[in-house]
Amino acid sequence: MLEILFLLLPLAFYSGWQSARKRYKERQEKRKQISVHFVRGINYLLSEQPDKALDVFLNYPEIDEYTADTFLLLGNLFRNRGEINRALRVHQNLVARPDLSKAQRTSAMLALGEDFFAAGMLDRAESVFTELLKDDPKRSDACEPLRNIYEQLHEWDKAIEISQCAQQRSKSDHGRLIAHYYCELATQELQKNNLFKVEETLKKATKAYPDSSRVLVLAGDLAYARGQMQEAMKTYQAAISKDSRLLGMLFSKLLNDFPQQDALENLYQFIKQHFTQSQDTRLFAYLLQLARKLGKLKEMHAHVDEHLLKGKPTLNTLAHSTEVLASVWQESNTCDMAQVQTALQRLANSQPEFQCGHCGYKMHDYLWRCPACHQWDSVANV
Ligand SMILES: [Zn+2]
Repeated sequence: MLEILFLLLPLAFYSGWQSARKRYKERQEKRKQISVHFVRGINYLLSEQPDKALDVFLNYPEIDEYTADTFLLLGNLFRNRGEINRALRVHQNLVARPDLSKAQRTSAMLALGEDFFAAGMLDRAESVFTELLKDDPKRSDACEPLRNIYEQLHEWDKAIEISQCAQQRSKSDHGRLIAHYYCELATQELQKNNLFKVEETLKKATKAYPDSSRVLVLAGDLAYARGQMQEAMKTYQAAISKDSRLLGMLFSKLLNDFPQQDALENLYQFIKQHFTQSQDTRLFAYLLQLARKLGKLKEMHAHVDEHLLKGKPTLNTLAHSTEVLASVWQESNTCDMAQVQTALQRLANSQPEFQCGHCGYKMHDYLWRCPACHQWDSVANV
C-alpha cells in the first residue's frame, strides 16, 4: 500500500504544478486586460475625450490600491476643471465598489462630499460629511467642509458646534471664527431686541476670542439700545482704538446717533489724539470732516500742511485738505497751490497707470501680455 502511495507522489506534484500554472496564467491575463483598459482610458483623457475616458474607467473590472488612487485623482481633476457632473460620476462609482479598503472608501466619500459642495448641493454634502463623522467621531478632515457648509447656510449654531469639535480634534485655533459666529447670532438677537440674549451671546464670543473688535462694536450697539449713550460711545472708541479700520464703518453711525455738540467734540478729541499718535492716514479724512462740522477747520491747518508735505495723501484726504486751505486762503486773501500740487503729484505717482481690459489687473508699466489673465494686447491706460 505504501509503495502505491509513493508511486502516486509525482502525479500529485504534477497536478499541483499544473493548477498553479493555470491560476498564474489567469492572473496574468486579467492584469493584461486591466492594463489595456487603463491605457485606453488615459489615451482618451489625453486626446480630450473625457466622456469616452469616463466610460472606460466606470466599467473598470477590478480596483486595486493604485487604481483607486488614480480614480480619486481623476475625479478631483474633473472637479478642479469645473466638470462637477463627471467628478460626481467617478467618485460615486468608486464609493459603490465592494472591493475598497476602509481608508480608500473614506477618501472617496470625502471627495464625493466636496463634489456635492462644489455643485451647490449643500444638503447632500452635509449628509456625506456627517456620515463620515458618525463612522469615526475622532476624524477631523470632515469638520472643515461641514463648517464651510454651515457658514454658507448661515446656520451659526451648527457652525459653532462643529468648529469647537474641530478645535478639540485638530488642536487648531478656531477661536476667532467662533467669535464671529456668536456675533452673527448676537446681531440677529439685537434685531429682535432680545437684549439679554445679546449680552449672553457676546460673553460667549469674548470667551472664544477675547481680542475681538467686532464684539466691542456689538457691545456698543447693545449699550446704545439700552440708552446708555456714554457707555456706547466709550465702547465704540475702544473698538476703534483696537482697529482703526472700524472708524470707516462706524463714522456715519456715530454722526447720526450722537449729534449733540459735546458728543461730537468728544469724538473729535479722541480721533485727533489717535491721529497725532499714529499718523494713520485712515483717521485723517474723518478728522477733517469732523473739524468742518464743528467749525474747527483752521485748527487743522498745521496738520494739513504736514500731511501735504510728508504724508501719504489719498483722494479723500486731499479733497478735505483743500477745504481747510480754502478757508485759510479766504481769510488771508492768498492762494498758494504749491503744496497741493506736490501732494497730487505724489498721489499720481503711487497709482498704477495701466489696467488690463480683460481681467481688470492694474500695473505701473505697460506690458504686451497681462501677467494675471495672460491675454495679449489687453492692457491700456486706466
Ligand atoms: Zn488680465
